[in-house]
Amino acid sequence: MLLEADLHTHTLASGHAFSTVREMAQYAARKRLKMIAVTDHGVRMPGGPDENYFRQLRGLPDLICGVEVLKGVEANIVDGYGNLDMPPDILENLDLVLAGFHDGTGYQGGSVEQNTAALVAAIHNPLVHIIAHPGNPLYPVELEKIVMAAKAAGKALEINNGSFTFRRPGSGPRCEYMAKLAAKSSVLVSVVSDAHNCFTVGAWEHAVAVAERAGIRPENVVNSSTGLVREFLRRNKQRIRKIS
Ligand SMILES: [Zn+2]
Ligand SMILES: [Zn+2]
Repeated sequence: MLLEADLHTHTLASGHAFSTVREMAQYAARKRLKMIAVTDHGVRMPGGPDENYFRQLRGLPDLICGVEVLKGVEANIVDGYGNLDMPPDILENLDLVLAGFHDGTGYQGGSVEQNTAALVAAIHNPLVHIIAHPGNPLYPVELEKIVMAAKAAGKALEINNGSFTFRRPGSGPRCEYMAKLAAKSSVLVSVVSDAHNCFTVGAWEHAVAVAERAGIRPENVVNSSTGLVREFLRRNKQRIRKIS
C-alpha cells in the first residue's frame, strides 16, 4: 500500500514531542512523502500549545522542503456531546481536524455505551474530519456503531501506527477488528504514523499491514494520494456549508 500523505504528526509544540515543523517536513521529503499534516494536541493537553499557537499556524508556508504542510490539530473530546477543546472559529480555519480521547483532557471515560455515544457525537461534529485512534482500549467503544456512524457522515477512522507500539498497548486486536469492519462497509480510513519525532514521520508499517490484512482498498484510504486528501477535505467543507 503506497501512501503519499501522513495526516497525523506532532511537533515540539505538543510539549512531549521532539522535532520542529521544518525537521518533520525534511524527513517527510526524505521518505518521498508529498504531504504531512501537523496535528499538535488541542489546548487541554498538559504541556501542549495554547489557542494563540493555532491562530498563528496559518502563517506557515504551505510548502516546506518540497512537502505540502497541512495545518491541523488533534483536538480532545471533552464531553459526551461531541464538543472539543478548541473554539469553532479556530477549527474552521484549520485544514484538518482530528478528534480523539486523551487522558486528563476533559472526558473521563465511561461505559462502552457512553464512550460510543461520545465518539458518535464527535463524528457528527461538522468540524471534525477524522477520528484519532478509535481502537484505544482505555476508551472502549462499540466499533460496529462507530464504523456505521463514520460511513453515514463521510468521516474517516484512523488506523494509527502508535496503536501497535509502546504508545497504546492493548490496542492491536481492537484495531484489527475495526479494520475488518471498515473493509466490509467501505468506510474511509486514514493510515497514519502519529509521529512524535521527525524520525518516525511516515513510519506506519504496522498500520499498513493491518489495513492490508483486512482487505481495505486503496481508494478508501484518504491519505493514499494527495488528490484523495484534497477531495476528502473538499467534500467535508461542502457539508459544513450545507449545514450552516
Ligand atoms: Zn492521540
Ligand atoms: Zn497524536
